[in-house]
Amino acid sequence: MLTNESKVTEENPYQVALAQLKLASEISKVDPWIVEMLKTPKKVIEVAVPVKMDDENLRVFTGYRVQHNDARGPYKGGIRYHPNVTVDEVKALSMWMTWKTAVVDLPYGGAKGGIVVNPKELTKGELERLTRRYTTMILDEIGPYRDVPAPDVNTNPQVMAWIMDTYSTIKGYSVPEVVTGKPLSVGGSAGRNEATGRGVSICVREAASAIGIKLSGAKVAIQGFGNVGYNAASILRNEMGVNVVAISDSESTLYSPEGINPDKALEYKEKNGSLRGYPGAKQIDASDLFSLPVDVLIPAAIEGQINKRVAESISAKIIVEGANGPTDIGADEVLREKGVLLVPDILANAGGVMVSYFEWLQNLHREKWDLNTVNSKLEEKMVYSFKEVSKVTQNYDTTMRLGALVLGVGKVADAIKTLGLFP
Ligand code: NAD
Repeated sequence: MLTNESKVTEENPYQVALAQLKLASEISKVDPWIVEMLKTPKKVIEVAVPVKMDDENLRVFTGYRVQHNDARGPYKGGIRYHPNVTVDEVKALSMWMTWKTAVVDLPYGGAKGGIVVNPKELTKGELERLTRRYTTMILDEIGPYRDVPAPDVNTNPQVMAWIMDTYSTIKGYSVPEVVTGKPLSVGGSAGRNEATGRGVSICVREAASAIGIKLSGAKVAIQGFGNVGYNAASILRNEMGVNVVAISDSESTLYSPEGINPDKALEYKEKNGSLRGYPGAKQIDASDLFSLPVDVLIPAAIEGQINKRVAESISAKIIVEGANGPTDIGADEVLREKGVLLVPDILANAGGVMVSYFEWLQNLHREKWDLNTVNSKLEEKMVYSFKEVSKVTQNYDTTMRLGALVLGVGKVADAIKTLGLFP
């Protein structure tokens, strides 16, 4: 039985990312020397992070920061805390960040970080010491004009505040612009917390309109009920009238054809630690989530969730990838043949990095924008990017995944060509 902790695909995410790069660069005829550069991240940093645990014992955690490419601007990308973090996963995620910032035309490159840890097993104090020590160990590699981290799986605004404070303390002055996704009280942006979920919801709306599905009452199933999954569920239901019929977290999968109220489910999860036992919805097997009779599927948990076999069981007409890399290459092919409209991660979940960029701008200019300003800029940029990717997709008569990759890889390749190679 598939548990909610499993990956269903055995594909190495870095191999998936390399295969995508190959496909996109063949289509857009990128110079071979540039492809050669883009295959490997510019820098891979591995650190052994010692932490004094509450019981006075010492544990050493492995941490990474991978900087893929900065031809279009400073490195940008989240930091995740997860027991299954591997260097290849972080390398893949850093490459996807490079394409993502290019697809939505932000002046950034791509990076990613991670620590091999199950944060649920750590106390708050241990987590803080781990974060601060990791920050000091990558301190010379990050910075407002060098590499700007952000939250990802199992990291949150509090973790970002600790990173900012550690960096600022060592520099001797306040540097809010070193990291994004911070709490509002220390330079965070209005709208950042829900930005990725909002961007995903906008993509659901645009995709539904592109293939003539009525949004109001449309059924959606969402895997993952964290920052991205919960916010997408809440915005889709409360602002767009979508019927959220299934949600899941790492412990439980819930289904109710009549609809689940995500805000009530969140309240329950916060009180009980997980969705397990939530009243008013049926508990189903994790492996059944993707085959439910729905119009839209949103994988919003972790990568490697939809393989060929899972893809064959999908009846939804639209998939919007909230998570990074949830679908493997074999599954992409099946979904293309089935005529499923798949909005790829590097477009669908770009709302987060967009509002991170707005946060960075506000910090650099010592400004504060209100929520309406942030949301309307996000709306405009997401819709524009969706149209840009759709145009390339049509021009090459391909899938939105390849359309987005061709657009992203093409922009990065252009930048590298224009800069030239030093020396
Ligand atoms: P999170 O830690 O807030 O939430 C992750 C959720 O997924 C949790 O509810 C967890 O229980 C659940 N989960 C984990 N494994 C699962 C499984 N196998 N089945 C079902 N549920 C599972 O993380 P997040 O920030 O929401 O990130 C989710 C995904 O979105 C990741 O792939 C991340 O890289 C991507 N992403 C996040 C952001 C962001 O701004 N947070 C931006 C872009 C992309």
